[in-house]
Amino acid sequence: MHRVFSGIQPSGELHIGNYLGAVRNWVALQADHDCIFSIVDLHAITQSYDPKELAPRTFEMAVGLLAAGIDPDRAALFVQSHVPEHTELAWALGSVTPLGELERMTQFKDKSAREETVPAGLLNYPILQAADILLYQADRVPVGEDQLQHLELAREIARRWNARFGTELFPEPQPLLSKARRIVGLDGKAKMSKSLGNTVGILDPPEVIWEKLRPAMTDPARKTRRDPGTPELCNIYALHQLLSKPAEIEHVAVQCRTAGWGCLECKRLLADNMIAALAPIRERAEDLKAHPGRVHEALAAGAAKCRGIAAETMAKVRDIMGFAPAAPAGAGSHRGGRAQDG
Ligand code: SF4
Repeated sequence: MHRVFSGIQPSGELHIGNYLGAVRNWVALQADHDCIFSIVDLHAITQSYDPKELAPRTFEMAVGLLAAGIDPDRAALFVQSHVPEHTELAWALGSVTPLGELERMTQFKDKSAREETVPAGLLNYPILQAADILLYQADRVPVGEDQLQHLELAREIARRWNARFGTELFPEPQPLLSKARRIVGLDGKAKMSKSLGNTVGILDPPEVIWEKLRPAMTDPARKTRRDPGTPELCNIYALHQLLSKPAEIEHVAVQCRTAGWGCLECKRLLADNMIAALAPIRERAEDLKAHPGRVHEALAAGAAKCRGIAAETMAKVRDIMGFAPAAPAGAGSHRGGRAQDG
């Protein structure tokens, strides 16, 4: 069975971009893969953040993931910082990662251009991503198009480390591309992102979903109800393709091309389908929030499983890289006794 690793930042509540672009696929993968999913709080600190919000956002993300269908009996769900081997392996992998490779990462260039002072963590981010995957020797990684470059670097780091130390410990992870590769926000411009305010939260109540969808960007050619449109140029149609039934998707395309209905009718159908898809998730999330112990238990079980795998991998890594083994417990007190004798 292939082992899958994937991570998500603790940005608080999941939004439909996260859900349709990644998490719905994770839920499906649990059925026939050995899945490890992480809330990657160590990645989150590479950009400015409020320490007071980190833990609550991590909890909220865990609630969202469990409510969306991540099943702790079938997949390990854990918080990245609860398994310290992630940072230890990242340091070890940094010893074979060329600086130039890190500097040419598109995300690094984009994010560092927005920072006055660029933290080294931002540059090293892809090394930690490689460590996240290789620590569990995961051979499949569900990724969006924007993460393909980082995954390619993780493969390169695995190759270089294996070659440098004459081993095949790390498999080269392969991408698992989902159908929904990039979910565009309601502004119709950028990728859906909480920081851009162009999202629908998966726990938003029905009236809020409609309030957000109603003014959402559509095909600009549809200036009036009589103007025909091109569904392929409209983000509402893209969302229909992920949430509506095949016959409805076909109907949307025909009505759009023939100006058979207005965009509001089209959005109303989408809102109804979105509300129906999210209703059971909201219900489960409310239940989990009322019983936070269940969330903490799931995260603790996931971390315990991952610590076991991580400890085994790091023991091999330390041995292969030639680190001196730690002295057995009690060795120091024995030596101390001899010194006293002398
Ligand atoms: S009818 Fe639907 S698919 Fe066509 S432009 Fe309007 S919202 Fe988009």
